Amino acid sequence: MSQRTLIRNARVLACTGDPDERPVDGDILVDGNRIAQVSRGRLDLDTSSTRVVDVRGATVLPGLGDAHTHISWPLDFVFDHSGVAAESPARHALDVAAVARTFVESGYTLVVGAGVLQPLDDVLARDAIDAGLIPGPRIVASGLLVTSPGAISDGSGMSDVAADADGLREIVARQCDSGVRALKLFISGDGIVPEFPSDDVYMNDEMLAAAVDEADRHGAFITVHARGSASVAMAARTGVRLIHHACFLDEEAVRALEERRDDVWVCPGLHYLYAMVSGHAEPWGVTPEKIDASGYRQEFASQVEGLRRLREAGIRIVAGGDFGHQWTRHGTYAAELARYVELVGMTPTEAILAASRSMGPLVGLDVGQIRAGYLADLLVVDGDPTEDITVLQEPARRRAVLKDGAFAYVNAEVYP
Ligand SMILES: [Zn+2]
Repeated sequence: MSQRTLIRNARVLACTGDPDERPVDGDILVDGNRIAQVSRGRLDLDTSSTRVVDVRGATVLPGLGDAHTHISWPLDFVFDHSGVAAESPARHALDVAAVARTFVESGYTLVVGAGVLQPLDDVLARDAIDAGLIPGPRIVASGLLVTSPGAISDGSGMSDVAADADGLREIVARQCDSGVRALKLFISGDGIVPEFPSDDVYMNDEMLAAAVDEADRHGAFITVHARGSASVAMAARTGVRLIHHACFLDEEAVRALEERRDDVWVCPGLHYLYAMVSGHAEPWGVTPEKIDASGYRQEFASQVEGLRRLREAGIRIVAGGDFGHQWTRHGTYAAELARYVELVGMTPTEAILAASRSMGPLVGLDVGQIRAGYLADLLVVDGDPTEDITVLQEPARRRAVLKDGAFAYVNAEVYP
């Protein structure tokens, strides 16, 4: 018989999809790695063969997810991509393990890779986590970034370069064969590198359609770095599943996203832009002049406006965004959700849905809801995050994290 755990006296936030949902008193029965039953009030159960964990009124919500993750960036990362790429693989692997542990300790049980600095970082971490060697979230593994000749990151030695549709197919197939399941393509520039403005468009429809097709054949999907509206429109009309940033949106881009409403997701990375334009990166040499030159101030204002539009249009927004800089440190992932509430006007529950319920169909897993039959990935916190979203940012309030029905993290301060 598989291991059963009864979580008693919880305030359950099931993530039903209602943006005004509040936690309710309940119990959760976990059997093996799945949720077996969820009750209002106490579950009537013979507990003789069940481990009972009384959480004494703590909120229990689904484990959170981040859809734009770089586990290659060490805890002390300072924008030295090439230094990390050149680090000895053994030493680097320990840095990656520390980041993986940080995710799960922060309540994040799922991440979607958005490009690595050593080719197998995500794949090796995923396999080590799945084998129980190190703690960490579920990882939808990415590989090296994919770019095209003359585009951003070409010549860096840290990306795969595709000149045409056939070349791109070959790269997608090779990365998938190595275990990658989320391919990351650069299809726009990024104002922080002034030679490559955010409005630049790289690759073309034929290349993206080929990449989408090839990824699909391998049970993988395509994600893109797309900041300007033309790149967003191209991604939407060619079947890309996950669009990162989408900072600028014109009518055409919004219409293309609307046509794909049921199988496209947008992951903004709003907290990153917020931190940049708020001067949080200044101690690390990102001066106000550099921010001016990057166009990030306009980009930030445009992204806030764009997210409001997407929200009204019913396009699914998933949380995530380039955490791991010293100004958006690892472990502060839930700051992204606070920005959605504060700047975009989401309810706290709606922001949580962007990191839970909306993630499940994106990655094709029964995750992101507390519901019978779903994987038992759960976060236990003190306080009510539907009242105050910043509860999720406080390490001291995190009591425990379950993944696959097992305790992946227990706060020793709370449960000695
Ligand atoms: Zn990124």
